Amino acid sequence: ELYATLVGDKKNRQEQGYLFVFRDRTEEEKVDEMKNEFISIVSHELRTPLASVLGFIEILLHRKLTADKQQRYLETIYKEAHRLSTLINDFLDLQRMESGKQVYHFTPVDLAGVVRDVADQWKEKHSHAILVDAPDAEVWVRADSDRLKQIVHNLLSNAIKYSPQADRVDIAVRQENERIKLLVTDYGLGIPEESRGKLFSKFYRVDNSDRRQIGGTGLGLAIVKEIVDAHQGAISFDSVMGEGTTFSVELDSYTVPHADGSIIVLED
Ligand code: ADP
Repeated sequence: ELYATLVGDKKNRQEQGYLFVFRDRTEEEKVDEMKNEFISIVSHELRTPLASVLGFIEILLHRKLTADKQQRYLETIYKEAHRLSTLINDFLDLQRMESGKQVYHFTPVDLAGVVRDVADQWKEKHSHAILVDAPDAEVWVRADSDRLKQIVHNLLSNAIKYSPQADRVDIAVRQENERIKLLVTDYGLGIPEESRGKLFSKFYRVDNSDRRQIGGTGLGLAIVKEIVDAHQGAISFDSVMGEGTTFSVELDSYTVPHADGSIIVLED
């Protein structure tokens, strides 16, 4: 931080010069700031769904309701409790990753298989068609299988969430020499220019009128970035406002060609 103060007797206009003050904001101050920000965001994010869960339970306990109403209130309670559970899990996951306590079990994992599995889970729940373009043969990457699923899940979840008017999202797996690419494409809102540098930051959410109704915590992409980094991979995105976005994750291939041209999977 740098600021300048005018030194001298201002009243008599006998300025003598400027005093420049250099101040180093210590690491501790920054940590404090982050803690405060965290407490205010998490307390809000926890309180809102919890208040609604308690409110609806109270109504169910004390009022005589039609079966139809009871059902609707129970569905709301379920949705809100689910939101709480996701927030707490995401938050704990990210804490563990950021503090270096996340243990990764790297094995050969078939990315094409993971993509098909995750897409199948989403298909049951959503209106969007999920079109998978992946080779029939296995595409081996060196990865922690559960964490790789989390990457696909979070990117797919965002693609669906942020394309409310669209009816499809595309996922592709491509092998380019030693690198494997995962591409998740939506035809939705797009990412504004001014948000692009902050998208992977913890708790960052785009604050546009077009997405105020869309729920979230701003943790999904921070988690994806942590996992990609732990895999020594790379993540990037291309986006056009109002047209859509493609997220691309690049990972090392976990295969070597055999002398006879077949592929063998490396084991640790
Ligand atoms: P969340 O979805 O919980 O807000 P994320 O970390 O997953 O948090 O994403 C951060 C922000 O990036 C979101 O608030 C959203 O505005 C924007 N974003 C993420 N993915 C997409 C996408 N596919 N299309 C448009 N915007 C996106």
